Amino acid sequence: MTTISECIRQTSSARARVEAAFEKAAAHEHYHALLSLTKERALERADAVDRGDITGRLAGVPFVVKDNFLAFGAPTTAASKMLENFTAPLQATAVERLEAEGAICIGKANLDAFAHGGSTENSAFGPTLNAVDTTKVAGGSSGGSAVVTALDIVSFALGTDTGGSIRQPASFNGVVGVKPTYGTVSRYGVVAMASSTDTIGCFAHTTADAALIMDIMAGQDERDMTTLPNFFAPTTNVTAGQKIGLIRESMSDDVDSEVRARMNEYVAKLRAAGHTIDEVDLPMLTHSLAMYYIIVPAEVSSNLARYDGIRYGYRAEGVQTLAELYGKTRDQGFVTENKRRIMIGSFVLSSGYFDAYYLQAQKARTLLINAYNELFKNYDVLLSPVSPTPAFGLGENTADPIKMYLADIMTVPPSLAGLPAISVPAGVTAAGLPVGVQLIGPRKSDAALLALAGSLEDQA
Ligand code: GLN
Repeated sequence: MTTISECIRQTSSARARVEAAFEKAAAHEHYHALLSLTKERALERADAVDRGDITGRLAGVPFVVKDNFLAFGAPTTAASKMLENFTAPLQATAVERLEAEGAICIGKANLDAFAHGGSTENSAFGPTLNAVDTTKVAGGSSGGSAVVTALDIVSFALGTDTGGSIRQPASFNGVVGVKPTYGTVSRYGVVAMASSTDTIGCFAHTTADAALIMDIMAGQDERDMTTLPNFFAPTTNVTAGQKIGLIRESMSDDVDSEVRARMNEYVAKLRAAGHTIDEVDLPMLTHSLAMYYIIVPAEVSSNLARYDGIRYGYRAEGVQTLAELYGKTRDQGFVTENKRRIMIGSFVLSSGYFDAYYLQAQKARTLLINAYNELFKNYDVLLSPVSPTPAFGLGENTADPIKMYLADIMTVPPSLAGLPAISVPAGVTAAGLPVGVQLIGPRKSDAALLALAGSLEDQA
């Protein structure tokens, strides 16, 4: 693994670094982690760094963005046929901020189409393979970004996390993943999935690198009214004797025994470091998927309404009427999972069912938020596994959407509550598959979570 500072130290020029990243990407092409490369633009920027025209904390450091970020140099497809030929007219604020510090985007990473999924198997262009075991899924939806980091093609990559899409693939591939407090990073220029839970975060090899990247991206943006002023102050100071709650419902017998074993080892390390760990109850955890799969499809159905075949993107051919144009475009442009969510979302928002489903789910969401607030009166941090199992086999869950949704049972609740949650490596199973632990904190405790995890990093 190559951290950001090692990356800067190792090679003499930015061009050499960028060329090395492209070589590594080519050598790992069969993982299908990247949908496109931004070669021409990346080399131009590298030369500008080497001339001294571009400077900054990330001068000449290559990175990858999930292909739902608008970025120059390659198409922005969201891994969907709908946007297959779409070239961004502008760049996402997150990408702009990294570029302003001299970072160089070298390519766009594969994802589940429109970020709907937990394995990257819903990509319209084929799945990404797990970095550790190519018979397993990469996780998702930011599977490509996790895998390019784990394979050390780059030292960091960007993803989006709506219900687990950074944390779960980070855990499946053994890297650090950060889903920040809702509103930390501007979503301007990022393809919207579910606006009340969408967040921008990153993958990195270390918590310190992740903190640096988040600090650079964070802060208010007048083009995204949900953004908070930057509160993200990277630190290595860890408050001594923290009170940590291990969520009891996340350690039930349904959870893979090796995942629980790695969790227990992590808990022992926290104890040895002087922190207090109690088991705590979060009964709402078991209802979170039901809430999520009402609220998120509702927002998805609204956000995807813009793909009508008229303004931009894919348009079906050989149609006679306007209704046929809409219908065929959307039928051919979206993958099955996109259509499932549009249909569920339209249903739960329809006048006859709104009160029974959507409103009920929003009320339950408030109960979940209250339950977290209660816990955070007594605890600094909450702990759970990231996912109930290590990476599952390719094709294993594709026929059963409910089984696929269960992979997110631990990551969805913090998303619904807008809380920061990070995924850090916690060892591997007997078969060598990575296991991740999730640290959840109150709003704006992101940097403190990374510092706490960082204090155990060397022993992990
Ligand atoms: N896997 C979850 C879902 O399918 C999360 C997706 C995400 O965070 N983008 O909704």
